[in-house]
Amino acid sequence: MLAGTWLSGCEVALFVLITASVHAGMGSERRVSEVCAKCYLDGAPILVRIDQAGRIAAVERPSGCPDGLDLYVAPGLIDNQVNGYAGVSFAEDTLKVEDVRRATQALWKVGVTTYVPTLITAPQQTLVHSLRTLAKAMREPDIALSVRGFHLEGPYISPEDGYRGAHVRQWVRAPNWEEFEELYRAADGKILEISLAPEVPGGLDFAARCAQMGLVVALAHHNAPAEVIHKAADNGARLATHLGNGCANLIHRHDNPLWPQLADDRLMISIIVDGFHLRADAVRTFYKVKGPERTILVSDVIALAGLPPGQYEHGGRTLVVDPAGVVRYPEQNVLAGAARPLSADVANMMRITGCSLADAIHMASRNPARLLGFQDLGEILPGKRADLILFRLNEDGLEIEKTIIAGRVVYSRREE
Ligand SMILES: [Zn+2]
Repeated sequence: MLAGTWLSGCEVALFVLITASVHAGMGSERRVSEVCAKCYLDGAPILVRIDQAGRIAAVERPSGCPDGLDLYVAPGLIDNQVNGYAGVSFAEDTLKVEDVRRATQALWKVGVTTYVPTLITAPQQTLVHSLRTLAKAMREPDIALSVRGFHLEGPYISPEDGYRGAHVRQWVRAPNWEEFEELYRAADGKILEISLAPEVPGGLDFAARCAQMGLVVALAHHNAPAEVIHKAADNGARLATHLGNGCANLIHRHDNPLWPQLADDRLMISIIVDGFHLRADAVRTFYKVKGPERTILVSDVIALAGLPPGQYEHGGRTLVVDPAGVVRYPEQNVLAGAARPLSADVANMMRITGCSLADAIHMASRNPARLLGFQDLGEILPGKRADLILFRLNEDGLEIEKTIIAGRVVYSRREE
């Protein structure tokens, strides 16, 4: 899958490290009954009591915490767009359940407690294999803690250069319901979200059918005219996926997909705030329009995330991991995905827009939970599942000290 013999060594080392840190993490001895730390909402102490079922039983506001106030506590991060991580790509003919476990455990280390494995445009048989494997992985209790379903980004997107982004043209196709049904069956009905281009033949009807089935319909990699975008929202589209990306470098100043997606209040937006995918002023502008209630941060990380800088053969393309932390696709002069985890985007968002930690966490946890209908996640409230992260805040992001899922510690930095 990836180039370079040293890489397989790197993957093995990573695997051993992660396994060692979380193996004990699934045992009952890792259960926690309470957490006291600085609350992400206001920085004041908060005591979270957790019941035996791993739910938040009560939330109190003590005057201090027994271990001091070195750490913040926040709901675990929810990443709506993860193509792969730690050397694992989800859209692969060779994907195995163990690969999904490896990516999941690596994501726990960076504070992601729930994520939506995302499959970009690929041959039908690859998508079928990947979805079958992901559905099988979800039957494993540890993986099921973090994965509730999948995001299909493509293959029903624009074939045009620029709008197509780094998706391989050969596998881009027009919406086909029979084909989609095969994917849906392979996924065991667990496709939660589909990102598509509404202007392609049959796109609007397809969007309506998906929305009627209860899927989150998102607009992505498209060059739809304004009226088609608004019609897609009429038909149930709810999100503009990674707004400002999946778009040609040169666009018409009036007739482009950005304005209508910003203007239509029915569409939330997801944005990649890794410092590369969007300029700072675009992030500020998008945020001013959509606000902290309708903006979602996504990482869009790919398998190369976290690997050393260099050139890699990946998914039929030659990609370059830039030393600064982004993946480029030089042949099309576009970005091919991100290399920094969602926790980095949270700190970037605060730095770029001046938003509070509370709002940045809402955009990386509460808002995606609402979009996806995960009613038990995304906030620290009685009755919610005790998915918590303990962290320090610094320039590079959130330095994760501990990750807790359903009241159990699944990652602890000190034990590495
Ligand atoms: Zn994309």
